[in-house]
Amino acid sequence: MDDAVAFETLAVHSGREDLAALGVHALPIDLSTTNPLPGVELGGGSYESMATGHHPTEGGNVYARLWNPTVARFEKALAQLERTEASVAFASGMAAFTAAVMAAANRGRGRHVVAVRPLYGGTDHLLASGMLSVETTFTTADGVAAALRPDTCLVVVETPANPTLELVDIAAVVAAAGDSPVLVDNTFATPVLQNPSEQGAALVLHSATKYLGGHGDVIGGVVACSEEWATAIRPVRAITGGLLHPLGAYLLHRGLPTLALRVRAQQESARILADRLADHGAVGRVHYPGLGDSDPSGLIGRQMRGPGAMLAIELAGGLAAAESTIAGLGLFTHAVSLGGVDSLVQHPASLTHRPVAPEARPGAGILRLSIGLENVEDLWLDLDRALSTSHGARSSAAGIRVDASVGAGAR
Ligand SMILES: *Cc1c(COP(=O)(O)O)cnc(C)c1O
Repeated sequence: MDDAVAFETLAVHSGREDLAALGVHALPIDLSTTNPLPGVELGGGSYESMATGHHPTEGGNVYARLWNPTVARFEKALAQLERTEASVAFASGMAAFTAAVMAAANRGRGRHVVAVRPLYGGTDHLLASGMLSVETTFTTADGVAAALRPDTCLVVVETPANPTLELVDIAAVVAAAGDSPVLVDNTFATPVLQNPSEQGAALVLHSATKYLGGHGDVIGGVVACSEEWATAIRPVRAITGGLLHPLGAYLLHRGLPTLALRVRAQQESARILADRLADHGAVGRVHYPGLGDSDPSGLIGRQMRGPGAMLAIELAGGLAAAESTIAGLGLFTHAVSLGGVDSLVQHPASLTHRPVAPEARPGAGILRLSIGLENVEDLWLDLDRALSTSHGARSSAAGIRVDASVGAGAR
């Protein structure tokens, strides 16, 4: 697919270039665990190629832990959307992150990682645990330069951050990191809203479980990067075995054509809800990059193409208010994860950020909302009702005009 075409077009056509020649219209799924080989020499040569991180030779896929064509198709498509040369897909976002850290540490430079907090709870936990035999210095975006050491092999950053939705200037972190490669977790932004490689990030990570999959039915992860990095990461996947199943790859690839539509529609609702929530008596603070002074350095427009569809609210009533708000919500499912077609709510301090060190754990009154594709007026009524009940505050929805042409029949 010609990279010059627009995102939406790439999203529909990437990784499907050969389908017409194959005589099929839908993505084919190859479930083979092993592959018949045309000859001993070809099999051995192809094996050698893949063991060193390269592609198989024609007809020499050998074994599915080394290569799967359905997964490779998805990887090609995702790389095009992230504007990178390649991508490598995994069984989960955490498997993808693990392989990226291992590949970075294997480069011989050292085993020190600099990580900008806040991070996804699992990422924070993995780095803090020392489980990957890397030593991690946790810092802020401003502290990256000071945290670097000669043995720093990787700088890790997430923007928008989880769950505070703070934005980090990727280009500034890349500049501060000098010759240390920077990994950006792009799960919240998706390639629709942000391409970290264009800001100089060497590695772009996704928990594909979230927006890429978008329907809450597949766990996966992917690292988008240069072919050189992919060559270093694939052998880690082949050896450690954190493989994306071909059915998962099919579902992820199937979701790409609607990714931009989903993210933009969800973002539009998030904008409206963030505005209204900011005026709600039960809400002390709304964390949303699209609100007033939430983006002082103007990263939306320069780095991101929009503020996204995730937001967090800080309830004046703390934990008790958080609990009763969750209990009072009907359309928002109380569940971790995010980025799906349906709206979710969760309490980060109890769930996703539970394994995080107390000083880095989000406040007890914070709820994280993932806005889905429901009608925004329905979502607002649900939120207002639950918040007002929990707060005992007067309904602030009284003044909200519901557009009958939108609301009628849609509820
Ligand atoms: C969910 C998530 C991960 C981990 O991904 P899994 O697919 O659950 O392994 C990493 N980063 C962010 C920002 C996430 O939301």
